[in-house]
Amino acid sequence: RIKKGLKKTSQVLNTDVRDLFKSEGRLIDEDFLDELRAILFKTDMGYDPAEELVSEVAKGMRGRVVQMQEVIDVLKSKLKELMAQDESPIRFADSGPTIIMVCGVNGAGKTTSIAKLACMFRGQDKSVVLGAGDTFRAAAVEQLGIWADRLGVECIKGPEGSHPATVAYQAVEHAIKSNADVCIVDTAGRLQTQKNLMTELTKIRDSIRKQIPDAPHEVLLVLDATTGQNGISQANNFADAAGCTGIVLAKLDGTAKGGVVVAIRQQIGLPVKYVGVGEQHEDLVLFNPDNFVDEMFD
Ligand code: GDP
Repeated sequence: RIKKGLKKTSQVLNTDVRDLFKSEGRLIDEDFLDELRAILFKTDMGYDPAEELVSEVAKGMRGRVVQMQEVIDVLKSKLKELMAQDESPIRFADSGPTIIMVCGVNGAGKTTSIAKLACMFRGQDKSVVLGAGDTFRAAAVEQLGIWADRLGVECIKGPEGSHPATVAYQAVEHAIKSNADVCIVDTAGRLQTQKNLMTELTKIRDSIRKQIPDAPHEVLLVLDATTGQNGISQANNFADAAGCTGIVLAKLDGTAKGGVVVAIRQQIGLPVKYVGVGEQHEDLVLFNPDNFVDEMFD
């Protein structure tokens, strides 16, 4: 289903690559390499990966006339190498509830991604408790409640004006008492100063650890794929502040610059775990680099 998320990217990329090969084959010379480089940049994969791909093509093919498929095969295998990561779905707790903290800036797709994760766990027959910890936005709390009702999972909201850490505490407490399998804790999405953000996320984490010392088991950062390279500097702030363990890349379907996943893999030392490919609760895909690259060029 990653196909749905890469539709725009693969349309643009494949049209561009086909245009490189108007005739039967093409001589791999400097002009060709420059054009190829420009196409790769356009996907937002970033400078270094694009250079590495161009070098790989140049290394094996410079001075030869080659067919399109040969170039695509080289690009695909090098990309797969660049994006390789451990197969890393969620790390579940050995016993008791698995606690997943979710962070990201407002609008990135945090609430929707939490609903998608909840839906996925429900599909795996796991019971889920949500903690509506984005208490600075009444709308976020309300929205999460609506998703929870729709999915038939519990949502702990806490009294109005409560601190995110209090809600996190209550959600985890409830998850333990009710023997839930998974507890997903939302956090505030304001990107204030790095220091405030860090203090707040640390408080949330501490309130979780009071009850389960080795939790949260995952800290997922939701990034908006449509913000491209911009999202990456944001991501680094969060990764430092929250001790993130992985990324959920939302709205991949909304961009033709799906190469941003390559940039993320290269510039943030975190695995991309899930990808959002639409607005519905089932629109979440486990990230697999090989499938991703295959669909990019499909
Ligand atoms: P939050 O402010 O970070 O909680 O963001 P929301 O979850 O409310 O999402 C913001 C907007 O992005 C909403 O209109 C969502 O429907 C939309 N959205 C979230 N994830 C995706 C996705 O994977 N694909 C698309 N097309 N839209 C998404």
